[in-house]
Amino acid sequence: MSKILFSVCLAGFSLFALNGEAQQDPFEEARKLMVRQQIESRDIRSKPVLDAMRAVPRHRFVPADYRKEAYRDGPLPIGYGQTISQPYIVAYMTELIRPEPGFKVLEIGTGSGYQAAVLAEIVDSVYTIEIVEELGLAAVQRLQDLSYDNVHVKIADGYDGWESVGPFDAIVVTAAANFVPPPLIKQLKDGGRMIIPVGSPFQVQQLKLVEKKNQQVRTENLLPVRFVPFTRDND
Ligand code: SAH
Repeated sequence: MSKILFSVCLAGFSLFALNGEAQQDPFEEARKLMVRQQIESRDIRSKPVLDAMRAVPRHRFVPADYRKEAYRDGPLPIGYGQTISQPYIVAYMTELIRPEPGFKVLEIGTGSGYQAAVLAEIVDSVYTIEIVEELGLAAVQRLQDLSYDNVHVKIADGYDGWESVGPFDAIVVTAAANFVPPPLIKQLKDGGRMIIPVGSPFQVQQLKLVEKKNQQVRTENLLPVRFVPFTRDND
């Protein structure tokens, strides 16, 4: 009898040990280093943004072959000719919209879902649109697996925004357009901020800050960047 009890106890113990192992994130240190060396060192100071960058498991948003490179200082391919942005750029764009807990944010270009997850760590709800169906569906699954229940994904051309849930406190566009789509300006709340790369595909573009105040729109160039192109349904 005591033998049986003993082996049951052992089984219980090893199950517990296995569980503990599964919950430990082998990339936690790499992520802390990423924040210190790539983001804080480049003057991102917002605590919620730094905390979010330390919290989101970036390695879960890249293809398995790239997992070990997930925390390096650059973009990575995610399939279908698209990329997950460099960590610093994600942090920079997130800080620039001055995210607050009560915010409803629109993102155009879900891609892997990483930028959406970073936003979702800080704000109340994120609405994100992806034009490539396969990427959108994979992002839905990934965000669900990681319990980002406050992210809503739509597969569509983001040019038109998401009128039925707008207006938005902030808009983040992660593909480079030739001009700022007017429907997005319309769906930005008064006092809201939009970050968008503008310029020709595969050339250096300008990351722009678009602010709406008293129904006036003001645009400011921030920094030269290179993003994948903003495509249209009929491209
Ligand atoms: N934010 C992403 C980066 C994605 S790259 C991430 O964190 O991983 C830009 C994405 O924009 C690509 O997935 C591309 O398919 C998508 N895209 C391009 N044009 C679009 C459009 N008109 N509407 C919605 N998504 C678009």
